[in-house]
Amino acid sequence: MPASPVWHPFTQHAVQPDAIPIARGEGAWLETVDGRRIFDAISSWWVVTHGHRHPRIVQAIKQQAERLDQVIFAGFTHEPAERLARLLVAMTPPGLDHVFFSDSGSTAVEVALKMALGFWRNSGERRSRILALEGAYHGDTIGGMSVGERGVFNATYDPLLFDVERIPFPAAGREQVTLDAITTACRNAGVAALIVEPLILGAGGMLIYPPWVLTEMKRICEAHGVLLIADEVMTGWGRTGTRFACEQAGVTPDIACYSKGLTGGSLPLAVTLCRAAIFDAHYSTDRSKTFFHSSSYTANPIACAAACANLEIWQDEPVMERIAAIARAHTRGLDRFRGDARFANVRQIGSIAALDIVTDDAGYLAGIGPRLYDNFLRRGLLVRPLGNTIYLMPPYCSTPQELERVFDAIGEIVDGIG
Ligand SMILES: *Cc1c(COP(=O)(O)O)cnc(C)c1O
Repeated sequence: MPASPVWHPFTQHAVQPDAIPIARGEGAWLETVDGRRIFDAISSWWVVTHGHRHPRIVQAIKQQAERLDQVIFAGFTHEPAERLARLLVAMTPPGLDHVFFSDSGSTAVEVALKMALGFWRNSGERRSRILALEGAYHGDTIGGMSVGERGVFNATYDPLLFDVERIPFPAAGREQVTLDAITTACRNAGVAALIVEPLILGAGGMLIYPPWVLTEMKRICEAHGVLLIADEVMTGWGRTGTRFACEQAGVTPDIACYSKGLTGGSLPLAVTLCRAAIFDAHYSTDRSKTFFHSSSYTANPIACAAACANLEIWQDEPVMERIAAIARAHTRGLDRFRGDARFANVRQIGSIAALDIVTDDAGYLAGIGPRLYDNFLRRGLLVRPLGNTIYLMPPYCSTPQELERVFDAIGEIVDGIG
């Protein structure tokens, strides 16, 4: 039995060692209580964008905490939320005009699904079915799990999950199969929305598809009046090499979810943005058409101030250049593994690099994942493979030398594991 009462996420306490106590974070590095330094190659679960404790974000948090910590967000508003909403409307793809606040990626997805159903109901159409990609991940709440891939993670909760129509992943050379499946599904009555992770499925294994497929998805949805929900919780804030993945496809979704990097990874916050038509469908003297969603900490002022500071960093600092430098380091680092029989599917998009280890022991629960993780950790590297898929998603302050060290370690560790 563990000594601590803490129950950790995605952790099998019976087989995993005790959690490592972390005392400090700085830039791309974590420091344990006993002074060991660990390079955070996965941005602490994909949230830390500019590095831990970016001074401007720390400063904004301190200043806001001195003024207003929290206030009910129904009937009241505050400057950090108002400023953040305006900045978001200006920075996100054109046409996303309204901003709804929540606290995590999962809740941003729940809000998106509820907005879609509210839109149709308030418009007087009976549409409630959701289309989703095979292999998708949209969070761990009941709605998020329902639209995500079914598997060992959620089999226990299956009786609680709602039914969705599954669209095959647009694997290379089979993109048209996906698009045809969307067309066929959209022809059925009652389809409310298609939800996708644009350009890359994250937790599903870092599976990449090209921008033109996303452009086509939007075109097909539009032709059938089906809403497109872009879950940019992971892809947002530069991960795919543009600020938002949808930019590469020239697509404005009808609803977009952002979270992880929204505060630069400093505090929990999420937003769901939507087109005017969706807000307008809820705008009525009929109170039954209200958007019935809230959480206690909706638009927490300190989190909003952190997000404003993050957006200002995006405006004033050469963030895109830093991402481009990481992308170049990834390309160099991955090159040595191309054509290497130990690896398959060597791939990259923006600041994300991924490759699969060729093994009979594949899948998330495979023994190879934890063994790789332990080996990286012993070298002071936080790398958390998804089954036999090794990926890097470092903070944008990481240097080419730091990344080079991680790529060296990949080669050495996989040799050792065999
Ligand atoms: C992480 C993630 C979520 C869930 O976000 P949480 O903040 O963990 O609830 C949803 N969608 C995608 C694409 C994600 O990567």
